[in-house]
Amino acid sequence: MADALLDPASGGTTRDAVVLIEDGRVTKAGKRDGTNVPRDAETIDATGLTILPGLIDCHVHLTSLGEGLDLARELTTPPTFELMRAVRAARRTLDAGFTSVRDAAGSPAGIKMAIEQGYFSGPRMFVTVTGLSQTGGHTDAHFMCGADLDIPLPDRPYSVVDGVENMRLRVREVLRAGADWIKLCTSGGVLSPGDQPHHAALSLEEIKAAVEEARVQGRRVMAHAQANAGIKNALRGGVSTIEHAIWLDGDAIEMMLDGRNGLVPTLVAPHWVIRHAEAGKMPSYAIAKAKAVIDDHKASIKMAIESGVKVAFGTDTGVGPHGSNGEEFLLMHELGMEPLECIRAATNVAAETIGMQGVGSLDLGSWGDVIGVAGDPVANLELLSKPENIQLVIKGGDLVKSTLN
Ligand SMILES: [Zn+2]
Repeated sequence: MADALLDPASGGTTRDAVVLIEDGRVTKAGKRDGTNVPRDAETIDATGLTILPGLIDCHVHLTSLGEGLDLARELTTPPTFELMRAVRAARRTLDAGFTSVRDAAGSPAGIKMAIEQGYFSGPRMFVTVTGLSQTGGHTDAHFMCGADLDIPLPDRPYSVVDGVENMRLRVREVLRAGADWIKLCTSGGVLSPGDQPHHAALSLEEIKAAVEEARVQGRRVMAHAQANAGIKNALRGGVSTIEHAIWLDGDAIEMMLDGRNGLVPTLVAPHWVIRHAEAGKMPSYAIAKAKAVIDDHKASIKMAIESGVKVAFGTDTGVGPHGSNGEEFLLMHELGMEPLECIRAATNVAAETIGMQGVGSLDLGSWGDVIGVAGDPVANLELLSKPENIQLVIKGGDLVKSTLN
C-alpha cells in the first residue's frame, strides 16, 4: 500500500495504490479501493511513498571496485577476491533501487546464479562474462612492462581476440560460459593503457562474425563504441546496443533511428574518472583521456536525444562506486531528457532494450520488483539520484530495504 503508484510506460499515477505480489509475481497493481487483499497476505505499508517498478542499469561491472584504478592493488588481488567484490556491489546496487542490471564484463555466470539461488542479495542479472577486444584494444590488459592483468578463469574466457575465425570460437566460448549478451569493444577506451577512445577497433568482418555467432544462439551484442568509426562499424555489423558513444554524428544517428538498437550513454563514467583522479586514485593516462572526452561526450549524447534515438539507462558503475548509479538521471536530464523519459530509460525502455522479461513495469505477471521514494520522482528526479533517497526496495515480493518504521 502506498500513496501513489507511477507507471512509467503510460506516465500515469494512481493515488491510494496497492500492489499485490504472489510467488514473486505481480497479481494486481492499481487503486486500493475494492481490492481483495488475501487475509493471510503480508503487508508492507508504504504510506507517504510513491512506488514504481525497480530500476534497471544496462551497463555495470559488479566485480570492479569502483574506487579508482590502483594497479598495485589489482596485482595483489586474487581472482577469487575479485569475484567476491560483486557481493558488496550487488547489495549496494539493490539498495540504490536497481533491481536489474546487465553486467558489461567481469562477472561470470556464477554470480548471477548465486544471486538467483539466494546465496547473497543482488539485482537480477544479465551477464556478458568477458568483454572482447582486439590485441592492444580496450580489454587487452597487457601493460608496457609485459605484464597481463587478464587472468582467464574456467568460466571467464580470455578477452583478447583477433581474426574472424578466432572471434567465432571466442564468442562460442563466452556463450558456453553462460553469457546472456556478448560484449565487444569496437573502439579504444579511457581506462585502457594502450589505445585511444577516438580510434576504431575490430574489423567489420570480426564484428559481423560475433553478431552472427551470438544470433545463432539467440543472443545479441553490445558494443563499447566511443570512436565515430567504431560506432558505425558496430551498427553496420548488427550490434544491438551502443555504449558510451562519445563521437556520434548525423550519419551514425541516422543509422540508430530504425529502432533496432539502443544507446546506453554512461554519462557519469568520465566524471568518476576525473573525481578518482582528483583523489589521486587514477593513472595519469586515464585522467588525460577522461578530460579530453567529457565535453564531446555530452554534445554527442545531446544530439542523439534531440534526434530521438532510443536511450536506455546505463552508468558503467564499477568505474564509479556501486550504488551511485542514480546520478546518471540528473545528467540525462541536463542534456534534455524529460524526467519521465529518464525514468522510462531505466524501466520499460531498458527492459525492452536489453530484452529482459518481467522487469521495468508492474503489469500483471511482472516480477514484484518495487521501489519507493518520498515524493513524485517525475517532479523531482533527485529522489532517484541517491541511494539514501530510495526508501523502499522490494525484489520478487521480498522486502530488501526499508527506511520506514
Ligand atoms: Zn563498461
